[in-house]
Amino acid sequence: MIPFLWTNDDISCGQYDDMARQLDFLTKYDLKGTFFVVPIRGGDRHLTNDPKLVELLKQAMADGHEVHQHSVTHKCIENGTADLRMFDLMGEAVKIDYSQNRFVYERMWQVDALEAHIGWGRAEWIDAFGVPSAGYRPGCGSFCANMYTAVANLGFKWTSSRLVSMTGWRWSAGQYDYPLRLEGPKCPYREGALVEIPILDDVAFKVPREKVEDFADLGWRLWEACVEAKVPYNLVCHPQYLAFNKGTGYAVHEKLLPRVLASGRAQAMTMHVYYQQLQANMWPMARDEDRYPGPNDLPEWHALARRNMVTEA
Ligand SMILES: [Zn+2]
Repeated sequence: MIPFLWTNDDISCGQYDDMARQLDFLTKYDLKGTFFVVPIRGGDRHLTNDPKLVELLKQAMADGHEVHQHSVTHKCIENGTADLRMFDLMGEAVKIDYSQNRFVYERMWQVDALEAHIGWGRAEWIDAFGVPSAGYRPGCGSFCANMYTAVANLGFKWTSSRLVSMTGWRWSAGQYDYPLRLEGPKCPYREGALVEIPILDDVAFKVPREKVEDFADLGWRLWEACVEAKVPYNLVCHPQYLAFNKGTGYAVHEKLLPRVLASGRAQAMTMHVYYQQLQANMWPMARDEDRYPGPNDLPEWHALARRNMVTEA
């Protein structure tokens, strides 16, 4: 068995109908979802300004779904830099903005700035739900080392930032010859006081009608790769793209989910439950040698790395 985590990003103020549709969809499969919700969507689109949505989310939690904080305003850049391949989905203007405003972004990525900003979203969250969320997922797979420090300082227990497979994303950007490839640590790992639970992929993002079968098949091949590697199947999807093109994203999941659930290998669960089971050593974590390099893993040609070598000698 491997954990099957059905996760969903981007619900925010004004999206009651989208959320209700997703919950109805999951009911068909008796599946509990983990929803990452944006607390402050720019302007006055604060979660607390949509009490109907907040009530629906509270009801969802009471029914066994989970809801955790997704970024703050969902500007991709607010938590650090995304995988550079994601910039192809964000467009040329975002690339230019990033290049032109480096000093502004570098200021935003200092620990005090990240703590203030993510803490602003957390305060909005507590206003809405009465309690903070245990998990934090930044937008667009963005992060930096300081983000982990800020998130830990604020009291979150786990994050979900890194991307294991870019295949679905690359297909969504029109690059259909991009191979199926699992990259980096496929299992969760400890990042300081936090546990990072990487995201597998999204196979239901901007799917053209004639490609529904192909994306569903990609989802299945990713499932087989995860079973073979004994790593969690941590699928993400988005309300606006499930409904895209008269529901091509939903159509992909309608083909994929029954197949995964009927495989006899899927242990469906929510993210915080998985986190608790990781804490109880019920599932493997990434081996140290498979972990992403940290800020201290400098290449040997760097002056600081050379200094360490001299000190050790
Ligand atoms: Zn998002």
